Amino acid sequence: MTHRPRIAVGGFQHESNSFSPFGATYADFAMADGWPALTTGQALLDQFPPLNIPLGGFLRAADFDYVPLAWASAEPSGPVSDEAFARVSDLICDALAKAGPVDGVYLDLHGAMVTASHEDGEGVLLARVRKIVGPAVPIVVSLDMHANITAAMTEQTDAMTVYRTYPHVDMAATGERCAPLMRTLLAGRRLYKAFRKLPFLIPLSAQCTDMEPFKSIYASLPGLASDTVLSIDIASGFPAADIYECGPAVIGYGFDQASVDRCVDEVYARIVAAEPAFSNDLLPIDVAVARALEIGRPGRPVVLADVQDNPGAGGSSDTTGILRALIEAGAQKAAVSVLWDPEAARAAHAVGVGGVFEAQLGGRYGYDSTPFVARFQVEAIRDTPIVGHGLVVGGAEMSLGPMAQLRVLDGEADVRVVVCSVRFQCLDQALFRGLGVEPRDQAVLVVKSTVHFRTDFEPIAAAILLVEAPGAHACRIDLSAYRRLRPGVRAV
Ligand SMILES: [Zn+2]
Repeated sequence: MTHRPRIAVGGFQHESNSFSPFGATYADFAMADGWPALTTGQALLDQFPPLNIPLGGFLRAADFDYVPLAWASAEPSGPVSDEAFARVSDLICDALAKAGPVDGVYLDLHGAMVTASHEDGEGVLLARVRKIVGPAVPIVVSLDMHANITAAMTEQTDAMTVYRTYPHVDMAATGERCAPLMRTLLAGRRLYKAFRKLPFLIPLSAQCTDMEPFKSIYASLPGLASDTVLSIDIASGFPAADIYECGPAVIGYGFDQASVDRCVDEVYARIVAAEPAFSNDLLPIDVAVARALEIGRPGRPVVLADVQDNPGAGGSSDTTGILRALIEAGAQKAAVSVLWDPEAARAAHAVGVGGVFEAQLGGRYGYDSTPFVARFQVEAIRDTPIVGHGLVVGGAEMSLGPMAQLRVLDGEADVRVVVCSVRFQCLDQALFRGLGVEPRDQAVLVVKSTVHFRTDFEPIAAAILLVEAPGAHACRIDLSAYRRLRPGVRAV
């Protein structure tokens, strides 16, 4: 190839939770939230390279002649509306069709998108993209570790990579790993693939790659690359998607079928052997709060992870079970972040800093409709984006709309709550600090997050306790009412 390869690039990210009480509309994709707004054209090439986002990593990794398509994401929720799916897919596909001949296509996808009409959003999108470019043009895709990889996705693409960390500190690095795969395909070399789905689902709370059993399984992946095997990846799956092809998978690419098969089978067997070690044990609220009050102190806070109300997995981020227990226990120096309550944020902005108002906090949108009724004093407000400095967010801006920090006015307890208007997971200390709460100075921190908070909070935590509180994202997947799983898949 004498010219610089013309590579079309775009992305479409959504993690769909079948048990979430609300879906994702076009407006959710169009607006900025914890991640960038819908982006098209040259802005996509200008804005993404510095970000810890796969597309950014891919753009940084290679010197291709890039053709920008469109990139959009929405906070995890129930299925994507047909309208949103069609409009974002059209933006990607129309730009691709208009671009004329390209040498390759790279897409930054999640891999667990369910739409109102399709169980496999990515599979449908990729079939459209394949139809536009034809069978000879390589399509290379990066996926979130929580992808539920489907047969259609593997058939429509030439190669895929998957994040290898949870918390996802390697999102950009996963995009980077697509560059050598693309170069190999552009050079005309054939890649053989192997794909196996595991026979059980793994709760998100057990998927952390800093802990066993995934720690050593994931650590083994880079070492599997050889002269004949180019890449082996694991998608740990998103268990809250009640679809036929839900669940973990192993996928690999290489220059001969037997070698790739052998490696994929080896990793598959290792995960099967580890099944009993994927624990979904959580602590009841009262036990967790009592232990936190015993151990936590300013300087070494205990982190209570509200793992089932994680908006980053489709939770409403507004359940109040842990907050109520803290107040009842008379907790001192405790803070909760981030509770989604646009009405409370609006009320706080209306009365201003120092003002007092009474509200039914939370319990509005979700799974558990028990608001927390109290008087609150407004200690801080803001409506500008917050820059996160943890390794997951990596210096990006998080736009959560009008926010406030509220002190619960209660005779005994000393508890603060950070509220937001746009749902986003508390994965960065900046989501306390940006509203005037220094996390290190607290005795107890409550984060509405399952695993992502660990990177930024573990260094200051005396202990991390996973709490079984109400939420639309079940970590106790044994209690979930699945209807669509394929026969033989275990949810334990
Ligand atoms: Zn993920």
